[in-house]
Amino acid sequence: MKKRVSVVVPIYNEEQGIKQFLSEQLFPELKNLSGSYNFEVILVDDGSEDKTAEIVRAEILREKSMKSRMLCFTRNFGKEVALTAGIMAAKDSDAVIMIDSDGQHPVEAIPKMLERWESGAKVVTAMRSRNKTQHKAGSKIFYKTMRLLGDKNIIEGAMDFRLIDHKVAEDYARFSEHMRITRGLIDWLGYPQEYISVELKGRKYGDGTYSFRKLLKLAGDSFVSMTRTPLAIFGYLGLFITVLSLLLGLFILIQQYILGDPLGLDWSGAVAMCVFISFLVGLVLISQAITALYISQIHIEAKNRPLFVIDDDKSEGAIEKK
Ligand code: UDP
Ligand code: MG
Repeated sequence: MKKRVSVVVPIYNEEQGIKQFLSEQLFPELKNLSGSYNFEVILVDDGSEDKTAEIVRAEILREKSMKSRMLCFTRNFGKEVALTAGIMAAKDSDAVIMIDSDGQHPVEAIPKMLERWESGAKVVTAMRSRNKTQHKAGSKIFYKTMRLLGDKNIIEGAMDFRLIDHKVAEDYARFSEHMRITRGLIDWLGYPQEYISVELKGRKYGDGTYSFRKLLKLAGDSFVSMTRTPLAIFGYLGLFITVLSLLLGLFILIQQYILGDPLGLDWSGAVAMCVFISFLVGLVLISQAITALYISQIHIEAKNRPLFVIDDDKSEGAIEKK
């Protein structure tokens, strides 16, 4: 019997390119491979505000030879949640492939992924090939900081273009947290991964809907989610005070004690003491803010809201009713 493979595609405001991606890239590639596999395409419309859902529905209905369905969120829940919904919907498949809908992930790599999976890999991750990449400065800083903060496992260049085995998908569906980075959680599961190197293509239409603001939020979420509480402001204040008093302290040290007061300021020891104390106060404020971030995170998880909401009327194809 042919193995069942689900392809999960998160889509958000892609009206310009989605038709082309499906009809010229994804569907043809899958049809080429359909001699050996039973594919099912799970399109997750992440609350697009433009014509995306209509276009996708038309594509599904037009391409009858391709088994596909669309899950429509009631609003934008974010790519990580869209991926999760797709993976959960694919739980009966033997493998799940996730791929972006903006055409940046090369569909030509799918056969290679399947090959690796057939020879035993539980997780196959596409990596941006080194030579041709123009790393976004933002993502570079993000990865550097993440690693610095202790997440040693995070691998730069790993994309959200992945294949996971049925077992991994099943395990993934057991996570209940809301702030999630899919690839981070898959890494966390600990299955050995195989990497294939692919070329990340440029975006044809629109700009990355992961605007700088969203990227920053993503980065913040993974540190421990930021700015949800006013205390974060005190954290920044603390940072400011710490840096300022550090500079001031260095100035006093060099000016007064090393160079012997060439400016003739004649500051007393009390001044130095004040600066030192402000430095400590800054540190306290910073650590307070970090604690607050942890607590706000706990608050969010404790509410344990449903992760997403599917609009049954808008969706297309077999929808599981819970
Ligand atoms: N996406 C989504 N929800 C969002 C933002 C993006 O489902 O809130 C989808 C988007 O349609 C695309 C994929 O996630 O298929 C990657 O988005 P994008 O190209 O903006 O991110 P980048 O390529 O910069 O990582
Ligand atoms: Mg993209």
